Amino acid sequence: MRIIMLGAPGAGKGTQAKLISERYGIPHISTGDIFRSNIKNGTELGKKAKTYMDQGQLVPDELTCDLVVDRIAQDDAKDGYVLDGFPRTIPQAEALKHALEGRGESVDFAIDVDVPDENIIKRMSGRRACVSCGATYHVVYNPPKKEGVCDVCGSGLILRDDDKPETVKKRLDVYHSQTQPLIDYYQKDGVLKEVDGTQEIDTIFSQIQKLLG
Ligand code: AMP
Repeated sequence: MRIIMLGAPGAGKGTQAKLISERYGIPHISTGDIFRSNIKNGTELGKKAKTYMDQGQLVPDELTCDLVVDRIAQDDAKDGYVLDGFPRTIPQAEALKHALEGRGESVDFAIDVDVPDENIIKRMSGRRACVSCGATYHVVYNPPKKEGVCDVCGSGLILRDDDKPETVKKRLDVYHSQTQPLIDYYQKDGVLKEVDGTQEIDTIFSQIQKLLG
């Protein structure tokens, strides 16, 4: 099953992608996580990506598309994957379509997790990310077992620079101008599914499981 998660930053795509990955036994591929791990390891890609990410802008398509096309060609992705944070532009969607067509494949589902902007801004200020493994939490909606400590690896939790209110506003502008057009794009392809992302995490996930059949 080849799944794409659509939705604004902070809509809960990553949380649902992780649940889908566990339930269906397919890898969760997050471009944001790939960039953050490159930043942490001080790679050239990480250095380039950071300058865009810190300003709430998108990393250019030429740094992003090949990375994903290579990742989905790896062995663990042969039976499918859930892509979280890619594609984010029409050219990225075209690059993905082209790469898949070359293998006689296509996207099976594009799941749009819909949340209004005003909820997003409130939510992001409560978001916390692990400094070490990148797992994300929310102080109210999805708290870690122990405050300020990652359930997965025991490291500290922080408010990411790109989750700060001024950057979130910029990211929402970028989302509306560059990423939202993908909803129509996948609707035309007949693979779009929509869920109301303002509900409880478990409720959203049950709906997604029904949509996936
Ligand atoms: P995320 O964790 O998915 O919200 O991504 C964090 C940041 O990484 C975004 O604000 C972008 O700067 C960058 N990023 C992640 N995925 C992409 C993508 N597909 N295209 C361009 N930039 C991306």
